[in-house]
Amino acid sequence: MDCIFCKIVKGEIPCYKVYEDEDFIAFMDINPINNGHVLVIPKKHSELVSGLDKNILSKIMPLAEKIGSAIRKSGIKCEGMNFEIFDGKTAGQEVPHVHLHLIPRFSEDGYEHKYPAGYCDPNTRERLEKIAEQIRIAF
Ligand code: 5GP
Ligand code: ZN
Repeated sequence: MDCIFCKIVKGEIPCYKVYEDEDFIAFMDINPINNGHVLVIPKKHSELVSGLDKNILSKIMPLAEKIGSAIRKSGIKCEGMNFEIFDGKTAGQEVPHVHLHLIPRFSEDGYEHKYPAGYCDPNTRERLEKIAEQIRIAF
């Protein structure tokens, strides 16, 4: 499979490794948003979170928290941290192998999210119960 992160898992292309166990590898993002930007990936390929085994799903957040704590303790500038997964191309996913970004944040680091037109529209609240019901039915 022509997946760049699978190649990293297999050691076919190099990475700056932070952590490895039988299920996961964590390494430095090649284009860090801030110093200390780490990617945590399951070794077994899945493009989307929904394709991950339950076992992997249950382990990924505890592991991300541990690595995040290590980043905070390391002396790297880190006043806060973004834990981000872009799930699907439309959500901004560029590499189609699940990866969790750990991005150290500090004030005025220039990393911003854009919000759509209509964000904070006063009519939004009227839609919330209907949408919550749609999700409850689908659950
Ligand atoms: P996303 O798919 O969530 O948009 O982001 C993919 C991330 O993977 C980017 O932050 C990008 O810099 C990183 N990346 C892409 N190719 C490589 C690579 O070959 N090695 C490493 N270490 N990071 C990569
Ligand atoms: Zn892959």
